[in-house]
Amino acid sequence: MLFWIYYIVSHHYLRSDIILAVYQTNLKEAIDYLLTQNIFSLLFAFLGSLLILIFIGYVVRIICISMRKRIEFASRRYLWGSLILTIFLLFLGVKVTYSFVGYEPVRIMDSFKNSVKRYTSFAKNRQERMQYLYNLGTLSVLPEHKGIYVLVIGESTARDHMSVYGYRFDTTPWMSQFVKEPGTICFKKAYSNYVTTVPVLTYALTDKNQYNSVSMAQAYSLIEVAAAAGFDTYWISNQERYGIFDTPIAEIASMANHQIWLNGDVGEYIRSNYYDEELADQTPDLKNADNALIVYHLMGCHQLYTERYPFKYQKFDRKVSKTSEYDNAILYTDYVVSRLYDLVKDNPNFQGFIYFSDHGEEPDDGTAHEPTEFSNQMTRIPLIAHFSERYRENHSYLFSPLIDQRSSYWTNDLLYNFMVEIMGIQGAPMEESNLTLGNIAYDRTKDNSLTMHGERRIES
Ligand SMILES: [Zn+2]
Repeated sequence: MLFWIYYIVSHHYLRSDIILAVYQTNLKEAIDYLLTQNIFSLLFAFLGSLLILIFIGYVVRIICISMRKRIEFASRRYLWGSLILTIFLLFLGVKVTYSFVGYEPVRIMDSFKNSVKRYTSFAKNRQERMQYLYNLGTLSVLPEHKGIYVLVIGESTARDHMSVYGYRFDTTPWMSQFVKEPGTICFKKAYSNYVTTVPVLTYALTDKNQYNSVSMAQAYSLIEVAAAAGFDTYWISNQERYGIFDTPIAEIASMANHQIWLNGDVGEYIRSNYYDEELADQTPDLKNADNALIVYHLMGCHQLYTERYPFKYQKFDRKVSKTSEYDNAILYTDYVVSRLYDLVKDNPNFQGFIYFSDHGEEPDDGTAHEPTEFSNQMTRIPLIAHFSERYRENHSYLFSPLIDQRSSYWTNDLLYNFMVEIMGIQGAPMEESNLTLGNIAYDRTKDNSLTMHGERRIES
């Protein structure tokens, strides 16, 4: 019945990644999701299933009553009959149990359980990984790479709606100027490796990617490797720390030396009413930071779009475009990213600033970023990198390949490789030069780039 209800509400088939998304959600996100759904189909599904339950109860009751009557009138000769029937039913039971394994809902629950197991093994093996990294003792940073790096993780931001990528409305006035500055590279063909947050970031922030066979339990996170190489690490987030259950993202973030969660701490539930610029206001003074990786996790343009920006940013009107609310959220994100950049740009130790989004979004028809409603726009994301003058002077061997690669295909599960490369971390466990942006051996093209965790090719 769960499968049928899901079908009535969403018009598609329940898959294990949907159950996983529900598993990793939090109350706030769940309510926001329900608010975007058609209330009538929800009501219809609820009443319909109630009716079916009542009907089943009624049938069972009739069967029970008639059976009791039969048993009362039964004589000895029925005993043999019942015995044979029992044996037959037992045999049938075994047969049914056997085929149950191949039953679709069972297979889906199985695949869901496996995913959860992979995630928990990642958390469990943390001690072992850290120990291994320190024992390795080879992790280091090239001296001229030391300094401050900022990584901004956007949320549900499709480049199709960003004027810096050619959108018809002026949604990114600041970025459009920013990409003209020397030192800024706007990557034209960046894609997400999945379309929901947790699976995307699990790959993006660890050395696991779609092209290698690293197991999740053995995957090193960017934060772990950066810390082992001597960087001070910050995680500043406007997303909920915990879903109904722990996610690998909270696990990765928990390895940072400094953590700021705008939306409360362990197990606490506070409705996220902070706009993303609060991240800039809450950033600690970086004057004394000399060697640091600062990661920001935005709420970005996640549904409900109207909750993502203050009134001042209500520039686009519904009368002009039906995605105006989403476009306003992009406009505000443009401002937020500019504020985060302003915090570090004049710092003498500033080296690099990277902005990308976890996945895209389909605001046009309301399918948002549901895996079952997959569209290419859900994977088309921005990737913009800026390097300080000092960095460019010292690392032209890295900067010039990056400029050449601005039109190369890139999927964001390769973010780990990219960050490790630009931060000059030596001796990291995984070295895949052909998957590393900035390396002259980088070889991703339209034909060998994948998404949906390797299930799909990049189409456009
Ligand atoms: Zn997301």
